[in-house]
Amino acid sequence: MLTDRLFGLTSIPVELQLPTAQATSGARRGVDAAASAERLRLLDESQVKNCRKCRLCEGRTQTVFGQGSPAARLVFVGEGPGFEEDKQGLAFVGPAGQLLTKMIAAMGLTRDDVYICNVVKCRPPENRTPQADEILACSPYLHEQLSILAPEMIVALGAPAAKTLLNTAESIGKLRGRFHNYMGDGTGAAIPVMPTYHPAYLLRSPEEKGKVWADLQLVMAELGLQSPQRT
Ligand code: URA
Ligand code: SF4
Repeated sequence: MLTDRLFGLTSIPVELQLPTAQATSGARRGVDAAASAERLRLLDESQVKNCRKCRLCEGRTQTVFGQGSPAARLVFVGEGPGFEEDKQGLAFVGPAGQLLTKMIAAMGLTRDDVYICNVVKCRPPENRTPQADEILACSPYLHEQLSILAPEMIVALGAPAAKTLLNTAESIGKLRGRFHNYMGDGTGAAIPVMPTYHPAYLLRSPEEKGKVWADLQLVMAELGLQSPQRT
C-alpha cells in the first residue's frame, strides 16, 4: 500500500495493481502520428474553424478543437469550452483544466501524452450545458476526431460527454466506475469508455475526488500504467 497526494486528496491509500511492464509513454506503438496530426489539422481548419452549424457560433471568440498527442492511447472528452478556453483556443486551460492536469499527472502521464477535447467546440453562453440540438450539430466532429485518433481508451468527463459517446440518458453517477463501449460509426472495434465526474464538479465537490481517482485507477490498470512514486 502506498499513500499519495492525488490531485489535492490528502493521503489516500492506493492499492497498486502492478503491471508486468510499465508503459512509460502515453503514445501508441505502430501509429502514424504524422498522418493523424495532418488529418486532425485538416478537420479543424477546413471544417471546425469556420463552422456555423449551430447557434453557439454566435457567442464564440474562436473554436476550440482540442489538443494533445495524435498518437495518444488515452483521450479525455469534456463538455465544451469555458471562458479561458474560448479566449485561448485551447481545451481545458482554465481552473477545471488545471485540476485535469493534476489528474493526468497522478496517472503518471503529462498532457502531451494524452489528447484532450470537448463535445462542443464553441463556448456556450454563461458556460451553460450544451443543448441537445447543439450536441447533435457538433458531435460529428468529435466522432471524426476519435476515429482519427483511434485511442485505446476514452475518459468521458461529465454527463454530456458520457451521454454523447454512449448514447444513453443514464446519469453520470450510475455510469461511472465501470467501462462502457464506444461504438464509433459501428464499423470498427469498440473503444472502452470510463465515465467519471467532470473536474469542474470536483472543484465544487472535492469530497468526490476519491471516486474519480478510483475510476482513473481502473483506466491505468487497463493501460498498464503505474502511479508515479512520490516521496
Ligand atoms: N470544461 C470543459 O468541459 N471543457 C473545457 O475545455 C474546459 C472546461
Ligand atoms: Fe459548429 Fe460545433 Fe461550434 Fe456549433 S458548437 S458552431 S456545431 S463547431
